[in-house]
Amino acid sequence: MSDPRVTLEPGGHTFEVGPGETILEAGLRHGLAMPYGCRNGACGSCRARVLRGAVAYPDGPPPGLSEAEAAEGYALPCQAVPEGDVVLELPQVGAAPDIPVRQMPVRVARMERVAPDVMRLWLKPPMTERLRFLPGQYLDVLLRDGRRRGFSIANPPHDDALIELHVRHHPGGAFTEHVFTTMRPKDLLRIEAPLGGFHLREAGERPILMVAGGTGFAPIKAMVEHALHVGLARPITVYWGARDRAGLYLHELAAGWARAHPERIRYVPVLSEPRPEDAWDGRTGLVHEAVLADHPDLPRFDVYMAGPPGMIRAAREAFLARGLPEGQLFYDSFEPAADPRLAAS
Ligand SMILES: Cc1cc2nc3c(=O)[nH]c(=O)nc-3n(C[C@H](O)[C@H](O)[C@H](O)COP(=O)(O)OP(=O)(O)OC[C@H]3O[C@@H](n4cnc5c(N)ncnc54)[C@H](O)[C@@H]3O)c2cc1C
Repeated sequence: MSDPRVTLEPGGHTFEVGPGETILEAGLRHGLAMPYGCRNGACGSCRARVLRGAVAYPDGPPPGLSEAEAAEGYALPCQAVPEGDVVLELPQVGAAPDIPVRQMPVRVARMERVAPDVMRLWLKPPMTERLRFLPGQYLDVLLRDGRRRGFSIANPPHDDALIELHVRHHPGGAFTEHVFTTMRPKDLLRIEAPLGGFHLREAGERPILMVAGGTGFAPIKAMVEHALHVGLARPITVYWGARDRAGLYLHELAAGWARAHPERIRYVPVLSEPRPEDAWDGRTGLVHEAVLADHPDLPRFDVYMAGPPGMIRAAREAFLARGLPEGQLFYDSFEPAADPRLAAS
């Protein structure tokens, strides 16, 4: 019996899904740029509507798909396997840019604690190799025991001598506890990159809103620095939300972009719980609510956002309700990894 075949509409791309493969794995293997983020069924970035046929979830219903969405016919290809031939609605799928996903050893070149709970980390690839990626993509750090952790690449592709990450400390976390306690410059790590469908789409006319929550600033930084490097003409407004002033760990950098390029970059920092000692006279509240307050005309924009899952869920729901077309919203949700240790806890 032949393998089930998946067709993606309206593009008409078609491919077979091998035994044990998810629809996303098969699509990526066939060189298609299907959208995805966490690959755990949590973030919902890969969401597609089933037009014909049916899918199943061998690992159980994915948490990132609500019952209402499932009832409306949506599926998450990162977890779904086809039950026979399937047709999915997934606009904007093209051939993947010709960048192979690779594993490589990297050396910790520099570490800088930029906030009590944020480490800026620079990794050096081997002399003979360079990492190709699109601005906004992420890498996986491969832990010795087989677990992996995703981190957005914070440097733009043209500035690739070192790979920059912004790592928030999760006390007791399998990887970040190590970063904040025992990791030292010159340590070796193994990474896999580039990953993810979250990257700057340069073509287009619309102005751009970028919304970062906490270390979600990392991929936004890569995109803005890339946009400035290539002279992207579309104006960009960067919203950066954090709890307190310390959470805006590269505030001066972002303010500097806006000062140097006032016609192209606006920067709006927003604090949800400023401390008295912050003496904050800027915007307060939740960052996505600041975006909504400033933009009754949201559908005029392309929106890119990255940050913690709670922020991404709330912002996505509110932005779509404000009329932003789904095809103009791009995001990476920093979902915790779903490895056996977490599943058991
Ligand atoms: C596409 C993608 C990009 C990411 N980019 C970044 C980045 O640039 N910077 C960054 O700091 N993180 C990023 N993350 C999150 C990161 O992959 C890890 O989840 C996080 O660093 C914790 O890993 P850990 O091994 O220290 O903790 P774990 O051992 O995985 O977990 C320890 C404890 O912390 C909780 N926890 C873990 N992660 C989270 C989370 N994200 N939110 C809330 N609670 C959590 C767990 O539930 C658990 O209780 C990204 C995630 C994804 C999917």
